Formats: sequence, structure tokens, C-alpha cells
Amino acid sequence: MENRTSDLLNRLSESATIAMARMARELKASGVDVISLSLGEPDFDTPAVLKQAGIDAINANETHYTPVPGTPRIREAISKKFKRDNGLDYAPDQIVVSTGAKQSLANVVLSLVNPGDEVILPAPYWVSYEEIVKVAGGIPVIIPTTIYEDYKINPEALEAAINEKTRLVIYSSPCNPSGSVYSQEETAAIADVLRKHDNVFTISDEIYELINFTSRHASLAAEPGMIERVITVNGVSKGFAMTGWRLGYMGAPKWIAAACTKIQGQFTSAPCSITQAAAAEAVEQDPSIANSMLEAFLRRRNAMHADLSKVPGIKLNLPMGAFYLFPDISDLFGLSYGGKTLNNSEDVAMYLIEEAHVATVSGAAFGTPECIRISYAASDEVLAEAVRRIDAAVRKLS
Ligand code: PMP
Ligand code: GLU
Repeated sequence: MENRTSDLLNRLSESATIAMARMARELKASGVDVISLSLGEPDFDTPAVLKQAGIDAINANETHYTPVPGTPRIREAISKKFKRDNGLDYAPDQIVVSTGAKQSLANVVLSLVNPGDEVILPAPYWVSYEEIVKVAGGIPVIIPTTIYEDYKINPEALEAAINEKTRLVIYSSPCNPSGSVYSQEETAAIADVLRKHDNVFTISDEIYELINFTSRHASLAAEPGMIERVITVNGVSKGFAMTGWRLGYMGAPKWIAAACTKIQGQFTSAPCSITQAAAAEAVEQDPSIANSMLEAFLRRRNAMHADLSKVPGIKLNLPMGAFYLFPDISDLFGLSYGGKTLNNSEDVAMYLIEEAHVATVSGAAFGTPECIRISYAASDEVLAEAVRRIDAAVRKLS
């Protein structure tokens, strides 16, 4: 039968991160020794104390539907965490927990964006932002940045992108894919612009909060006057190595939290009750529980940065958070090997998977087509081998 998928579906692209991870898995299954540095997920297991909290929840029969925005316990715990770690006053009724931060983002975008509304995305941005905006009928407005400004926008560029159609700005710090971290001063400068525009809301995606090599995480909503216009999204996937449990959350003005609860109540209801219990335990913990993972990520960032800097044609910034390198590989464009010419970042990512058997993700998917993303959430040995292979493949190009 003829393909009859909806216009909405046809507007949507497959997630490039998930597509590359799938390709790597398929190649591996066919016997190729692929190193997958494509998917952004910690290679660590969930800390034992959090696993135990999940087991305890099952044994205590916490196996029923919970209130749609989350159990009283987890919303109270998140409210306290926002105060404790970020200086944010979100009451429990301003918190909604969802099946991953991905769902939190979708809830907010669908709650706020009308068809034709503009949504500002500083590039590079996380792949799903653009697609979720498109599903809502919003128009993504991209503010490009380059490696020379550490992939961060300046207040003037933000001001220039805002007009009467602007409804939302979405950005992450620490940033996926660039690893860039906005300092307190840079965050304050962005707030100074946004504060002037009453119709503009901002999603501050802070899911990499705990993977930050600078001394302090800056929350946009903590800037004076911003709590009314910022939706702070966070989750347990990255900081607590809980990707498969599926829990994200947000703090927002009460009316936005209510809107997201309404949407979620029709689509999925609350996230898994057992996951909520384990995630509540995670956010109640001192965040230093994640320190050993942070140390490992920092060691790997340093090693990968040093090794990849020696590969010809690869320009690097020094990422201060998350677990990605986002090299500018545009110097490789125009070079060839085996009859194939690399014309863009997709070609480079395909060349690396085919020739080096290293899976990365094209920067085009993140709105920055001169780059590729390399996740360093893998063991030190695997990463060293990946760089050796990338180096050998790049040196074949001429
Ligand atoms: N935001 C960013 C920037 C991410 O990298 C991810 C990772 N998948 C998410 C949100 C969503 O995370 P999750 O749905 O696993 O909570
Ligand atoms: N956030 C991760 C990434 O960027 C997970 C994959 C996804 O959810 O798209 O690779």
C-alpha cells in the first residue's frame, strides 16, 4: 500500500544521533569492529544506591499510576534540589516529571508554540530541539556560532534575532554538542537581553549540569526577574548514568507546568513509578555522588583533546562540560580517498565510520555543518584506539 504518513510525520527527520548509533550497532552485528562514539550516554552503570531504591520501590508495591506530574515525593525533592544547587524557587506544583528530558522539552514546546511562531536556536543545538519545534509548526531561527567564539552566542546576536514573532529560545549549558559552558557573566548578559522581551520564553536545558569542569553551574532562571520566563529542564540520564530509566523534569511558571501536565496526561501519563522512586533518591543525594564519573570524563576529555589536536585538519575548542568534542573538520572538505571526495560533515562522518570504523555524528544535524560530534563516554583504551583510527584514516586523504 502507498505510504500515507501524515504531514506532521513527514516534517520530522529521524534523530541523527540515534540513526548513527543504529548504523554502528548494525555494522557491529555484521562482524565489523566498530567503535561507537555517536550516542551521548554515560558508559557507567547507575550507582548502586539508586538501583537499590528502584528495587525497594518494586518490593514496596510502588507499581501503580502516580499523579501525572509525578509523586509528591519526587516533586518535593526536585523543588529542594533546585533551591539547594541552583538558587531557584520552584514550588512542587511548578515541577513536572516526564519520561526523559526529551519529553519535558516536547511538552513545553507544544504548550507554548503556535504554528508560525519563531523559536531561536543558538547553533550548535541538540538535534531534537529543531525537530520538536517543527512538529509544533514553529519556525526555527538559527543563530550560528563558530569555534572561534567557543560556539557561544553573544547578547547582540540574540537581540538581533528577536522580533514580534519570537516565542521561545532553547539552549543548553553545558552544551550538547559543543561542550561549551556559559559562565555566570555570560548568562547574566543573555538574561539582560531576554528580560526586555515580555513575550519571549526560554528553555534552559541543564541536563549536563553535573558534567561541568568549571567551578560553578549558572542557571538562567536564577538571574533577577527570569524565573517567570524561563523553563529549567534537567534530568537524571546524564549526571546519574540513568539513561534507560527515562526520567527528566522541569521547573516552570505554574501555568506552564499545568499546561505540560495536561499534554502529558493525554500522551503518556506519569513516567514509570519505579523510576520516579530511584530518581527521587538521585536528586535527594549530595551531587558529589557523581564526582567519580566527572573525574573520569575530565581525564578522557584531556586525553582526547591532546590526541585529536595532533590529527591534521581537525580544529578543536576545549569543551568545559558534557562529554563531547565538537571539532571543526572543514579543512578536510575537498579532500579525497578511494575515489570519494568529502564535501561536507555528513561525508566526513560516513568516511570515518566506513574507513576508520569509528561512529561519530555529523555537525549538520546540530546546525553547524563544519563540525562533527565525538562522544568521549567510552573507556580510555577505546578512546585511544578511536583516535589512532581517525588519525590513520585522515592521513590517507589527499
Ligand atoms: N537535552 C540534551 C541536551 C540531551 O543531550 C539529551 C540527551 N538525550 C536530552 C535533553 C534528553 O535526555 P533524556 O530524554 O534521556 O532525559
Ligand atoms: N542525548 C543523546 C545524544 O545526543 C542521546 C541520543 C538522543 O536521545 O538523541 O546523543
